Amino acid sequence: MKADWLEAGEALSRILAAVDRLDAVEVRLGNSLGHVLAEPVVSEVNLPPWDNSAMDGFAVRSRDLDQSPLPVSDDVPAGGFPRGPLAPGTAARVMTGAPVPDGADGVIRVEHVHEIGGPGNEWKVELRETGDAGRNIRLRGEDISRGQTVLAAGTPLRAAHLAVAASVGRPALQVVRRPRVAILATGDELVDVDRFDEVRAGRRIVSSNSYALAAQLRESGCEPVDLGIARDDPASIEAALRRAADADAVITSAGVSVGEHDHLKEILAGLGLEHGFWRARIRPGSPLAFGRIEGLGGIPWFGLPGNPVSTLVTFEVFVRPALHRMAGEPAPHLPTIPVRFAGEYGGKAGLTHFVRARLQAGGDGKPADAVPTGGQGSGILTSMALADVLVVISPDPGSATRGDELTAIRLGGRPLSPDPPV
Ligand code: AMP
Ligand code: MG
Repeated sequence: MKADWLEAGEALSRILAAVDRLDAVEVRLGNSLGHVLAEPVVSEVNLPPWDNSAMDGFAVRSRDLDQSPLPVSDDVPAGGFPRGPLAPGTAARVMTGAPVPDGADGVIRVEHVHEIGGPGNEWKVELRETGDAGRNIRLRGEDISRGQTVLAAGTPLRAAHLAVAASVGRPALQVVRRPRVAILATGDELVDVDRFDEVRAGRRIVSSNSYALAAQLRESGCEPVDLGIARDDPASIEAALRRAADADAVITSAGVSVGEHDHLKEILAGLGLEHGFWRARIRPGSPLAFGRIEGLGGIPWFGLPGNPVSTLVTFEVFVRPALHRMAGEPAPHLPTIPVRFAGEYGGKAGLTHFVRARLQAGGDGKPADAVPTGGQGSGILTSMALADVLVVISPDPGSATRGDELTAIRLGGRPLSPDPPV
C-alpha cells in the first residue's frame, strides 16, 4: 500500500491536527445563533426572581383550607406585586407568573374554585377541589441561581441557549469568529450559470461546484468568498489563490486528479505547502488533497476533486469537521446514525466507500433502513440530491449487502445567524 495514499480515518486526523480554532469576537445576542460560545456565561440574578404562580388561581395557606369560602384579600396580575404578606384566613387572586404573597404555600387553580361576589363586593372564594394545596408555586432561583454558570464556553449556540443568555441579561456574547472560506473552481471547460448559452451550444459546463461549496459553507456556519473560476494554467490559478490570503481557509475544486495535479503541485510547492497529502483511499473522492499554505499566512487548503459528487462528499466527510474545529466546537465529529443497508453494493476492497442513500423508518425499534438513491458514479449528481445520508462501507470488504448494519453520515448542516457583527 502506498504510504502517500491515506486511509480515510488517517486523512481526517491529519486534517484535524493541522487546523486551529479562530479568535473570539463580540456579536449581538440576536446574531449569535450557530456560533460557538467563547466565554462562560454567569448569571448575576436569580431566576425566577421571585416565588411566582404556575397557574391562574388563588394563593392560600394549606392550614386555612377548611375555612373555605375564604375572603379574597389581594389581587395580583402578572407584572403586579402583592400588597404584603397573605393575611391569615384569606386568599389572594394571582395570575400565572405573578409573585405569590409571603405566607401562601400553594395556588388553587381557577377551575377548582367557585367565586362569590367580586372585587369590591364581598369577594370570596369557595375551594371545590384542594388537590393543588401546597403546589403550583415556582420558587425564586429554582431555574438559575445568582453566580451560576448557565452556558459553558464551547457551546454551539442554539435557540434555547439564546433564550438563557437573554434571561440573564446578556445583550452581546463573545463567540468564536465565523470562518471566511475562499472557493476557487478550476477548469477551462467551466462557466458560471449566467453563461448557459455556451452550455446549450455544447461547449462548456456550469461550475456547479461553486454553488455546492458556497452552500455547504453556509450550512457549516462559514462565510464563503467566491474567487470565481481559474483557467487550467499555472498563472491563472496562482493569481486566484493569492486572492485567498485574507481568508481563513481556501477550497479548490478540480485539478488534483492524476495527470492534472502537476499544476497545483508546482504552484503550491512555490507557495510553501506544509502537512500536505494528495490522495485518500476513498470512493468517491480519491484525489483529495490537503495542506497549509505557508506563503498565504499558513491557511489550510482543501484540494477537492472536480467531480460534482466527489466535491460534495469530500466536503461533508473531511472539510466540514475541520471548519467546525476552526469555529470552536470542542469535538468536531461527523454526525452519524446506525442504519440497516437496504440495497446491494459491490465496491472495490481497500477503499472506504460512501454510498448515497435515503432513510426509511425501520419499525420495531430497529435502525432506519438506508436505501441507495440511484447510480453511485461520481458524476451522478441527482442521486446525491436525493440522499439524506452517506452510508460508510469499510475497506474490508468494500461491499455491502441487504440487512448489513452500518453507520451513516447525515448530510446537511446547522442553522445560522445572518452575518453582521456588533
Ligand atoms: P478534474 O478534477 O479537473 O479532472 O475534473 C473532474 C470532473 O469534474 C470533470 O468532468 C470536470 O468537468 C468536472 N468538474 C470540474 N470542476 C467542476 C466544477 N466546478 N463544477 C462542476 N463540474 C466540475
Ligand atoms: Mg479539470
